[in-house]
Amino acid sequence: MFVEDDSYVDAVMEKLEGESCNIEYAVQQAGEQFAAMFAAMDDDYMRAREVDIRDVTRRLLNNLTGIAEDGIDPVAPVVLAADDLAPSETLRLDKTKILGFITQGGSGNSHTAILARAMGIPAICGLGEALKQEYEGRQAYMDGETGQVFLDPDEMTVQMFQDKAEKQRERKALMENLKGKEDVTLDGRRIELCCNIGSPDDVSAVLANDGQGIGLFRSEYLYLAAGDYPTEEEQFEAYRAVAAAMEGKRVIIRTLDIGADKQAGYFGLQKEENPAMGLRAIRICLNRPEVFRTQLRALYRASAFGKVSIMFPMVTSVWEVEECRRACRSVMKELEQEGIPFNPDTEIGIMIETPASVFMAAELAELVDFFSVGTNDLTQYMLACDRQCNDLGRFCDPHHPAVLRALKFTADAAHRAGIRIGICGELAADVSLLPTFLAIGIDELSVSPEAVLPLRAAIRKSNAQACTLEKLECQRNDAGKE
Ligand code: PEP
Ligand code: MG
Repeated sequence: MFVEDDSYVDAVMEKLEGESCNIEYAVQQAGEQFAAMFAAMDDDYMRAREVDIRDVTRRLLNNLTGIAEDGIDPVAPVVLAADDLAPSETLRLDKTKILGFITQGGSGNSHTAILARAMGIPAICGLGEALKQEYEGRQAYMDGETGQVFLDPDEMTVQMFQDKAEKQRERKALMENLKGKEDVTLDGRRIELCCNIGSPDDVSAVLANDGQGIGLFRSEYLYLAAGDYPTEEEQFEAYRAVAAAMEGKRVIIRTLDIGADKQAGYFGLQKEENPAMGLRAIRICLNRPEVFRTQLRALYRASAFGKVSIMFPMVTSVWEVEECRRACRSVMKELEQEGIPFNPDTEIGIMIETPASVFMAAELAELVDFFSVGTNDLTQYMLACDRQCNDLGRFCDPHHPAVLRALKFTADAAHRAGIRIGICGELAADVSLLPTFLAIGIDELSVSPEAVLPLRAAIRKSNAQACTLEKLECQRNDAGKE
């Protein structure tokens, strides 16, 4: 919008013509003039736009001078250290060049961390002030498991890392035997063990790790990776490719979950004081029917090429699901009239990520074919703990009985209505909670591809009948409260 603004374009043209300078100089000067104008404004919000002006100016100058903006392109592979990385920047990282990354901001639950997990890049998010500018160029070993960084490691540390890496390789080799085996407990309970992905490129990791389907395709990453709304055709191609590659196994595609920490400039979303509770996810789709319609058309068209299910994020109310279903019906009607093939029985599900959806589970279950619990957001909203914030420590406990009781409450409602319930938040991969999930009766777990085989090993060693709901009880003496 800024670069199309008449007064800005006029300012650039005036400089260009009046000062006989080149275009780069004119853009830089006009940018300075506008940045200074915003910086001098009384209103806090308008004053903060100075940063945006500088950002746009920098990007224009990069385009004009041919500087690639597509991320970091080091000569040799490196450990990247940054104050923070947006999910869109993380998506553009070249895995062959980035050995791992460390950020000052964010947390293990932020989308940047989740993406790193899906992409198989070791990451430490939220290191805070411990990360210093003077570390630039030094040798670093990082351990994504423990969150430790070692600078200029001595011989002993190097040896320790080499031993750990060797053990990891051995564990991986052992896991290979589990490929092709069933996800069934000793007493015969079957769990659907699926994967979370962000793009068609991630399917190869799903197949390599023997995931039994896609439990969550975060479709918004297609929007974040693009500079403008992806077209129906572009989206259709991406969804079709995943559905076809999974050869008849279920592929749950979540509709656009943008907003909060997942920002795409071209959406022109207003800056919000509390973006996690703002206009995000299904709220944006319901407020922008054309954006929603384009995605639904692409999804239904892809349903003709595999077992596609559609899932809506951040639901709180019955009317939202009814409106989603109306939008689906309208798209199906359009496709029918146009003679375009689709599966009219495409399953529809919702994510359970808000306390409201937990307490409305009985009514919501009547409207959909399945539930999938987004424990990342559910934990944030149940415990009032911002998932981006790394300082909450013991206050932000996804094992909190409130979160687990919410899971049980929802699972009971789902089963009473005869629909299945899965978990697709990061908690699904927490092997220590598997007995609780089995006791609750969770039907599906969807995890990053690397987590499939360790979870399979644990499922195959479990006895579902013997699992208890002990963790749902209030644990007064756990470490967090001492
Ligand atoms: C969740 O909230 O648990 C979830 C799976 O969705 P996302 O992490 O993309 O918000
Ligand atoms: Mg979520």
